[in-house]
Amino acid sequence: MNRILDTRTVDKFARLLEGVGQIVLTCHVRPDGDAIGSTLGWMHLLESLGKSVAVVIPDNAPRSLSFLPGFDRMAVFTRHEEYCGKLFRDADLVIGCDFNQPSRLDRMQRLLDECVCPKVLIDHHVEPGSFADLVFSFPEMSSTCELSFRIMAELGLYSEMSLESATCLLTGMITDTKNFTVNCQSPDIYEILQRLLEKGCDKNRIVRLALMEKSYGALLLEAYALSEKLEVFPEFHGSVICLDKAECERFHYEKGDTEGIVNRPTEIRGVTFSFFLREDSDCVKVSARSVMDFPVNLMCKELFGGGGHVMAAGAEFHGSLEECRRILVDSFPKYSHFLKGRTEKLDYFEI
Ligand code: MN
Repeated sequence: MNRILDTRTVDKFARLLEGVGQIVLTCHVRPDGDAIGSTLGWMHLLESLGKSVAVVIPDNAPRSLSFLPGFDRMAVFTRHEEYCGKLFRDADLVIGCDFNQPSRLDRMQRLLDECVCPKVLIDHHVEPGSFADLVFSFPEMSSTCELSFRIMAELGLYSEMSLESATCLLTGMITDTKNFTVNCQSPDIYEILQRLLEKGCDKNRIVRLALMEKSYGALLLEAYALSEKLEVFPEFHGSVICLDKAECERFHYEKGDTEGIVNRPTEIRGVTFSFFLREDSDCVKVSARSVMDFPVNLMCKELFGGGGHVMAAGAEFHGSLEECRRILVDSFPKYSHFLKGRTEKLDYFEI
């Protein structure tokens, strides 16, 4: 495995850990497999070192992750604000996983801001904030779980790593790489995978529970979105799917159910970008994906004040779904020059 961590930072982290009793681990709002996997992975490891550890998350974690050991022990800010506040105040050390800026904690940011103890950030997003005393920021990592494994190994704690901890870390690697299909070109990832499997992790079960399994309604909603609501714009190599509240409710929509929909149109030969607009209670949620470095983050920023990565971005629009769609579709000519080099014919026909 390539050594990418700076020994001095790792040593500092080791010294920080030595002196503390109570540790709070936290992650971003609407936590995903990597956010939950990394915080719980650290929780199990630090507990085996005799630390007292609490995982505090800004809002509910998806039910698909409830198989993770320690899932029920997490404190959820939106449900127990007072209690979470106390955990932050009593902490000797706060470790933030899988977010770059404190604003990613949403309303829970206040607890982090007010917290006076040392803070450590372990993350793989670009542009890390300067709120932490010690920062492990590696945007080239597939996941915060991969980075966490490397830090643990560098701390000499691989032998201490339990099956529980390994299961949580592998889950984050699997969800962030879509079971090793994206962002997984580095050979090191497979060495880490091997080491986690050697701990006894059940990879097949993790893939099934964390990545594949969904509700009846969620599967049908996706099928409906693709067969009935997909609009393809061949001249711009783009696509849009809009779902209003009534359509979501018809399929018993639950948070997270529409997660994968935005990716699906990019599977069509020649489609360069895909937008998914979903009417929510107080806004329209905009998500965008693209291929070949088409800058959907620029579109999200300029059109709706959002942001994200070049090929995966999002925003919130305060207005009607129809208005949001109109602004988006009207903007396509403005961004079509980013398609240069896209000569492949788009696979499309009128049904
Ligand atoms: Mn992540």
